[in-house]
Amino acid sequence: MPRHAARWLVRCQRFVMLAGMDVVTRFAPSPTGYLHLGHAFSAYAGWAKARANGGTFLLRLEDIDSTRCKPDYADAILDDLRWLGFGWDGEVRVQSAHLGDYTAVLNRLEARGVLYPCFCSRSEILQAQAAPHGGEVIYPGTCKALRAAERAARIAEGRKYARRLDVDRAVREAGALRFFEESAGWVDAVPQRLGDVVLARSEVPTSYHLCVVHDDALQGITHVTRGEDLLAATHTHVLLQKLLGLPTPVYAHHKLLMDDSGKRLAKRDGAPTLRAMRLAGEDAVTVLKQLTESVP
Ligand code: GLU
Repeated sequence: MPRHAARWLVRCQRFVMLAGMDVVTRFAPSPTGYLHLGHAFSAYAGWAKARANGGTFLLRLEDIDSTRCKPDYADAILDDLRWLGFGWDGEVRVQSAHLGDYTAVLNRLEARGVLYPCFCSRSEILQAQAAPHGGEVIYPGTCKALRAAERAARIAEGRKYARRLDVDRAVREAGALRFFEESAGWVDAVPQRLGDVVLARSEVPTSYHLCVVHDDALQGITHVTRGEDLLAATHTHVLLQKLLGLPTPVYAHHKLLMDDSGKRLAKRDGAPTLRAMRLAGEDAVTVLKQLTESVP
């Protein structure tokens, strides 16, 4: 199909996806540091879509990793959003207050036979579970090959383990998967892109992937707006939604803001924080203008 016809088709499909729909979006930061302009852009994407469509904009704090999340960062998120004028609707959902919900979801997946215990090192599991952005580690499946007796023996010994998704098996169970991405149209989901992700680790009985899928459905999110670094994760989320009988929202993965050297803004590289700008008395309107103008 010629490119202009394909673009036209995607536009028509997007129109149909929005027609008659009560738009519900969300911003779901992890309070593991202060927000920077990249986060502000993500929040803006969700907020603007909701406001432009007379919809609802929700805020969710993804704070399941108690070793990295701090109340101070959570407070700053609320202050930064208020400062920028991105008011949210209703209560803030704080994931750490709902761990029981996530355990119930994990048990449902366990009952479907799509999980297996993984005894590999903690650092590897931490990497896979706590960093949904970029640089994903694709687990080689070492523990998937363990025999049932060996698994049982290790568990009986008291060895710690994480629970991983057996993606091949889950895909066989789920059948064909697709999602609607606003800029690309219908996309066939390939959850093998992230492989056998960790869905629960021994210290935290859940994971980003599991919580996000559960909460997006619980909160009735119709449009997930987030950075394109999470596109691969979306393929996994669509699989989990199908296994759990949950709806698949529309996705809009936005470009990431870059610094002057062309590297994406990141907490770990010391990107200037919104909090610092706010406390330095910068004008939020100027910051917002800078934000909307620097969108790639
Ligand atoms: N909590 C994730 C983060 O701060 C974002 C999750 C999402 O938007 O799906 O990176």
